[in-house]
Amino acid sequence: MTTYVWDYAAEYEDERDDILDAVDQVFRSGRLVLGDSVRGFEEEFAAYHGVAHGVGVDNGTNAIKLGLQALGVGPGDEVITVSNTAAPTVVAIHGTGATPVFVDIRRDDFLMDTDQLAAAITPRTRCLLPVHLYGQCVDMAPVERLAAQHGLTILEDCAQSHGARHHGRLAGSMGNAAAFSFYPTKVLGAYGDGGATITSDPEVEENLRRLRYYGMKDRYYVTRMPGHNSRLDEVQAEILRRKLGRLDQYIAGRRAVAERYAEGLGDTDLVLPRLAEGNDHVYYVYVARHPRRDDILERLKAYGIELNISYPWPVHTQAGFADLGYAQGSLPVTEELAGEIFSLPMYPSLTPERQDKVISAVREVLRTL
Ligand SMILES: *Cc1c(COP(=O)(O)O)cnc(C)c1O
Repeated sequence: MTTYVWDYAAEYEDERDDILDAVDQVFRSGRLVLGDSVRGFEEEFAAYHGVAHGVGVDNGTNAIKLGLQALGVGPGDEVITVSNTAAPTVVAIHGTGATPVFVDIRRDDFLMDTDQLAAAITPRTRCLLPVHLYGQCVDMAPVERLAAQHGLTILEDCAQSHGARHHGRLAGSMGNAAAFSFYPTKVLGAYGDGGATITSDPEVEENLRRLRYYGMKDRYYVTRMPGHNSRLDEVQAEILRRKLGRLDQYIAGRRAVAERYAEGLGDTDLVLPRLAEGNDHVYYVYVARHPRRDDILERLKAYGIELNISYPWPVHTQAGFADLGYAQGSLPVTEELAGEIFSLPMYPSLTPERQDKVISAVREVLRTL
């Protein structure tokens, strides 16, 4: 049996009755699109974050895109983010017609280097987009200070950080708006695609509701501008409602797995995740670092362990983003890291026995490298 970085089979067996009951509830409700389950999930998800409004959308990419548009971002604007992220962060910015601008990351925790933000701000900058990557938050004080100084908005990309805290504040409660993905692998995952954008600004909320519904405020009438069809599905919303009640339990499970890695691999020459100041970590992925990463991954295959890399190609080096004009070498820490990082299996239902097999295989590979 191959071990992968992520697997939901055991979790499904545990939760099967509840998940199937959620599906049945929706099918019997007579309301398959934008009904009670979406509305209920939006309210409960916003409340979890202490934020006034939540708007369910079809995926995390559109949660970012509609979030930016709801904040007024469009063609001619610049949005500052990082290149060490899932490409969808940048695809979403591109989708608004705005231009993504990248700063490098910090060498120790791989998060946005906020010291570089000030120099990246131009008269066209409209929004700062910190990505709370791998499961912990960007240092928000400098982001908030610069946004206030320059009259910019903040959109948090929380696709990897459901439930993470930064100096006590929850990821998603710090910006003007925050975007979440419920892609199945995420810390709060649906059984298919899903996303949400949360905000305490009623005008942003209203914009979001229009934008996900063709641009209509009331039925059949497009008001300010054409939008999208980006609704969260009722079935996924009902499943997410059930799973939201278990989010803290999922996070505790991930932390237990992380603790076991720290115990089992802490004395090797792998560089293990480092917690940034003021953070707790929800370990969406458990990213380790080693200069001989490629050899390690290759040799682990013989042990039935197939790992992956988040992410092997920094966004600015991908051909599809060549127009942005970032040369190789322009974001040195991001580029260096991409060649050395890999992700160890991480999901709440990973059993200690299975994890111990991974740990001993990794130790064996490192010993014979
Ligand atoms: C997963 C992810 C997204 C995109 O979410 P989808 O639901 O797959 O569209 C965006 N940003 C980050 C950082 C992600 O990890």
